[in-house]
Amino acid sequence: MDKSCEAITDIFGSNVFNDSVMRERLPKDVYKSITKTTEGHQPLDPALANVIANAMKDWAIEKGATHYCHWFQPMTGLTAEKHDSFISPTSDGRTMMEFSGKELCQGEPDASSFPSGGLRATFEARGYTAWDCTSPVFIKEDGKNITLYIPSAFCSYTGLALDKKTPLLRSMDALDKQATRVLSALGNKTSKHVTATLGPEQEYFLVDRSYYKKRLDLILTGRTLFGAASPRGQEMDDHYFGTLHERVASFMHEVNVELWKLGVSAKTQHNEVAPGQYELAPVFATVNVATDHNQLAMETLQKVANRHNFICLLHEKPFAGINGSGKHNNWSMVTDDGINLLDPGQTPHDNMVFLVMLCGVVRAVDKYAKLLRASVANTGNEHRLGANEAPPAIVSIFLGEQLTDIFNQLANGDATSSRQGEELKLGVSTLPPLPKDCTDRNRTSPFAFTGNRFEFRMVGSTQSTAGPTFVLNTIVADILAEIADELEKAKNVKSSVQKILRKIANEHSRIIFNGDNYTDVWVVEAEKRQLPNIRSTVGSLATIMDEENVGVFERQKVLSKAELAARTEILLEAYSMQINIEALTMINIVKRQILPASAEYSGKLAATVASISSTGLCSDYQKEMLETVSELIGSTGKALKELEAITKECADIKEISDKAEFCRDKVIPAMCQLRQFADELETNVDASLWPLPTYAEMLFLK
Ligand code: ADP
Ligand code: MG
Repeated sequence: MDKSCEAITDIFGSNVFNDSVMRERLPKDVYKSITKTTEGHQPLDPALANVIANAMKDWAIEKGATHYCHWFQPMTGLTAEKHDSFISPTSDGRTMMEFSGKELCQGEPDASSFPSGGLRATFEARGYTAWDCTSPVFIKEDGKNITLYIPSAFCSYTGLALDKKTPLLRSMDALDKQATRVLSALGNKTSKHVTATLGPEQEYFLVDRSYYKKRLDLILTGRTLFGAASPRGQEMDDHYFGTLHERVASFMHEVNVELWKLGVSAKTQHNEVAPGQYELAPVFATVNVATDHNQLAMETLQKVANRHNFICLLHEKPFAGINGSGKHNNWSMVTDDGINLLDPGQTPHDNMVFLVMLCGVVRAVDKYAKLLRASVANTGNEHRLGANEAPPAIVSIFLGEQLTDIFNQLANGDATSSRQGEELKLGVSTLPPLPKDCTDRNRTSPFAFTGNRFEFRMVGSTQSTAGPTFVLNTIVADILAEIADELEKAKNVKSSVQKILRKIANEHSRIIFNGDNYTDVWVVEAEKRQLPNIRSTVGSLATIMDEENVGVFERQKVLSKAELAARTEILLEAYSMQINIEALTMINIVKRQILPASAEYSGKLAATVASISSTGLCSDYQKEMLETVSELIGSTGKALKELEAITKECADIKEISDKAEFCRDKVIPAMCQLRQFADELETNVDASLWPLPTYAEMLFLK
């Protein structure tokens, strides 16, 4: 075998307490029992916890670990961890290395400083973390610190979910239950469980660290709050899939190796559309593991970037006027015996399971379009959705020619045929004809069928995949429950299926759109179809507590009304806080960098004008330059004062949703106004005096 390949197969998963390690290190009966638990089908037998914890500890210590931690995902959208060492002092002044089953299964971090949306008063500090056995335990090396990581759920003293993982796990149970009911009603006797699968493609930017250090906006907010357009942008389309720059390629290699060690199957990497933008995609996994892995991927990208003197920007819109970054959530459902429920096969028109699942998803997405939209609503994504190079805020589904044809047949009665793909002849005698897919792709669709899965493309690049995924799981589970209810009482299943599909195809055809989602024509058309188009984050978050949304979460036992209300509050508050930080950062940069540099330049110009005039020579153009800069300084100063006054006013608003609305309606427009003048100054001030690295430098210099 090739030496480098051998190394990779050795490296992969080497820091994971995975199935093969467990088989090797656990007694047979314990191994059997834990496998049932890790597959998610049976709770952990507490009697075995000590044995498992001990095996984990020995394995971890052999790998150099000194600490363990419960690793959880609070509502910040980031991960949290509190490290404890294995040491346990003995009476003779020495120490033993210990790790009990209780320590493995349960942690008790102080919960008072995590956002809870009022679910927990600050004085009620107690929170619990609980080991999620369905996502493997792993070891992370951070500098010299080696720690055993235990993926965990996080809840309050009263058992309310305070994290992103708990509802995700609950939604997996809901989908499993309802999809299995449908399968069984359709005559499937072999599949016992259904799991949702996820393959998130992660987009990001790399910027040289030396530039980053000079940009307080990037340091504090992750995006540029100022910056005139570069004379060259992305118009040449020469970056997408272009040759990897050597420095970037080395960075990617190191990211891959780190991720492979953690068992994250980083697979695809390439240049993205914008200059300085890249993408990483893993091989898909169950939604829970994929979500944990995506968190690890984001963390690793940032960590390794540092080592290469890059900064990895995960923000949804780091640069105005340049493509933003998303996360494309590829999602499907698979049975425990390996059937992908969204695989159409050769003749989808007579694949009953596929058609039911497909129509179930279509109905769910149309019925709960606002909820899906809200699942991707955050401060960063507001710059992206609806801007001209990202999906609009309108949710629609791309089915492609073949499935749309079948969908239309269903609406009119029964589906009796499937269009087949043709051969593609390239007109070169040495190249073989290629089989052509039945359907083209549509990169503009927010929710696209891509052959054997759906790709939800509205998700923001900084977001945890948990939120959008548990929403999708929940709404699909709810529609499948409706379908199962009907099928279970049907005398003739086949005709009942036909009736259900016809109804869905008729009621929900409005959500199907195969055209270009980026055009204004679509916006007008979508309005005619009465599809919601909620552009603002605040407006979108406001729909979360609609009765039908509370209903679907409660029916599927994913979130209670109180838990949902708390989440909404946290999201709204995060929005206002983020905008406030951005506004204050702008004020700081304008006052301390942009205006001083511009004033210095205008002083120099004034001196130049005076000295040239004293020679009797013409200094008209220099005067004009001075006038332009002075005027812009005046406008910038005025806009600065305005923003200062507005942020002060904002600080006095107590009510969370009033504050968020004020940010949208007053603070953001004032920020935009200030930016406009400051960016104009940039194009008029001596480059050697300009304090901030420019777009051209950050995007093009490697
Ligand atoms: P593209 O850019 O063409 O959309 P990529 O290869 O970049 O495709 O990413 C596709 C993603 O979809 C990968 O993460 C892949 O593992 C994932 N994927 C493939 N099949 C499934 C499936 N059945 N369920 C979930 N994700 C899937
Ligand atoms: Mg891709």
